[in-house]
Amino acid sequence: MFDIGTVYLLATGALLLVALGVGVRTLVAIFREGRERSRNRREGEIERYTEDPVYDRDSPDPDTDGAAPTTCPQCGAENNARFTFCRECAAPLGPNQ
Ligand SMILES: [Zn+2]
Repeated sequence: MFDIGTVYLLATGALLLVALGVGVRTLVAIFREGRERSRNRREGEIERYTEDPVYDRDSPDPDTDGAAPTTCPQCGAENNARFTFCRECAAPLGPNQ
């Protein structure tokens, strides 16, 4: 007959086996995804956004390139030519002043 210690060991062992099965499957899935990601990165399928000029801080802004800054008619603050409202007093700057 099983004593309580043997039952405890069997139950603990069974739980451990289940946990190992789930854990190993999870680790294998993580490993596979990481391998796939590194392969995609090598092929340039991920992080393509780094080639987008929007994220390139050294390139000039195409919207304001060569355009003079707009002076606010209300407070005289200089604003980006793209701005619709003054950054200081929020007065409307008008279209393409
Ligand atoms: Zn202003």
